[in-house]
Amino acid sequence: MVNQSGFNRSGVIGLLLLAMFYFASARFSMAALTLQQANLILLWLPAGIGLIMAMAVGWKALPVIMLVSFAADAPEMMADGNSLSSWIHTAILAFADGLAPCLAAQLFRSRLPSGLLMARDLGPFTLYICLLPSIVGVAITVANLVWGGYISWQQVPGLSLNLILAYSLGILLVWPLYQLWNQPAPLDMAGWGWVLLALVANGLLFFAATQGVGGMVFFALPVLLMLTFKAGPQGVLLGLLLSVIVLIMGAIRFPGPCVAPDNMDARPMLMGFVFTMTYVTLSLCLYYRELLASDSSRQRWQNAALHDPLTGLANRRALMKALRDEANRTQRTGRPFALAMLDLDHFKRINDNHGHKAGDRALKAIADLLHAQCRGIDMVARVGGEEFAIVLPETTLVAAIPVMQRIREAVASLDLDLDDADTRLTISIGIVESGQEINIEQMLEEADTRLYIAKANGRNRIVGADGTAI
Ligand code: GH3
Ligand code: MG
Ligand code: MG
Repeated sequence: MVNQSGFNRSGVIGLLLLAMFYFASARFSMAALTLQQANLILLWLPAGIGLIMAMAVGWKALPVIMLVSFAADAPEMMADGNSLSSWIHTAILAFADGLAPCLAAQLFRSRLPSGLLMARDLGPFTLYICLLPSIVGVAITVANLVWGGYISWQQVPGLSLNLILAYSLGILLVWPLYQLWNQPAPLDMAGWGWVLLALVANGLLFFAATQGVGGMVFFALPVLLMLTFKAGPQGVLLGLLLSVIVLIMGAIRFPGPCVAPDNMDARPMLMGFVFTMTYVTLSLCLYYRELLASDSSRQRWQNAALHDPLTGLANRRALMKALRDEANRTQRTGRPFALAMLDLDHFKRINDNHGHKAGDRALKAIADLLHAQCRGIDMVARVGGEEFAIVLPETTLVAAIPVMQRIREAVASLDLDLDDADTRLTISIGIVESGQEINIEQMLEEADTRLYIAKANGRNRIVGADGTAI
């Protein structure tokens, strides 16, 4: 039910939940992902959550984000007192925090209307959704901080670059995870196990990096890339987000390879590494997903090209291929195969008496029965309206006859249960065995001729080698 404001109730609850998340992630980013002496944020997670909010409700997210951002920023911004100017500067900061995700959502809809789906979308996503809106938001933020005397002009270039990367990284880590998390195929138990294993491995690598083996940190990337093939996209992106958080938290607190609390020059190195790790992992994850999707769609097409949609049996094209394969095998091994052509008797009456839909159901039931009665290596195909063919590899005519007898009897005793009445059908069958010189067309013709003789001799019977009905 939609009320006047255009939100439904679950939408409002979702937005409130996201607002709480925004607040929590803002406080978390300030406390755990910030170089405290210089007050430099290395990863701004609310940027991604803001984008989720703006994608859900559009520009209506602006006042909500402003409100939550104001509440999150106030303790730091108003540390020096509750003056009017600190209120104004905090409000401008909150406006910049709200504007960037709303702008990003606007650009997202126009630039990537179907979402971040393919690896090739990652370039435009990074440029238009991560960088551009972050640049706008950061320009307002930094100008506001200079105006309020919170920072000096000299700090502007370094801080701007830092904030743009921290905001962009927040979007790059949070949005794809959110988007893929909403898709079918959830993360299974094995996937969770792999994520946990990767986190333990990365945790150990980061720990080793803080213990003087600095280069170990770079091995986090191959761990995440391996995860791509084990845990599905959701698992990788979760592993990536948590690894980045742990890496930054660790790098801030302990002297490590990329950043040391007293070595500010190492900071761009850390951000560069984290950005690269995120970008590469995301690219591979999206590309791998794309590959799997195109593989499964190719399989679906192949399946559709070789199967009959009503019964699910092989179609004539698949039958011809099976016959060619069997002919080759027989020529190699000298062992013959059998081919049976089957046609339902007086099937037209089913349609006439019960309707076409009931006829379709009857065909499906017969197809299931034929399939169930054959061996796994036999092929059952639907070659016409109510005509079927069965290829029996490594089977002589003599051996095929009892199989066909069983099928004929099974069809005759199957109650099709159409219109709640006992409805039965019979089937006529012609069988041939492959000869020395195999000609597939001739085999099909001969099987058809024998089927015709079975019909002419009264139906519900089988005709084999010598043309006499059994
Ligand atoms: P016979 O014993 O001589 O084979 O008689 P028949 O009625 O089975 O043979 P005929 O070839 O005269 O009719 C076949 C009927 O099968 C006609 C057609 O309406 C029906 N049929 C063919 N394909 C389908 C289908 O996909 N669905 C349904 N419901 N009927 C079909
Ligand atoms: Mg028929
Ligand atoms: Mg027919």
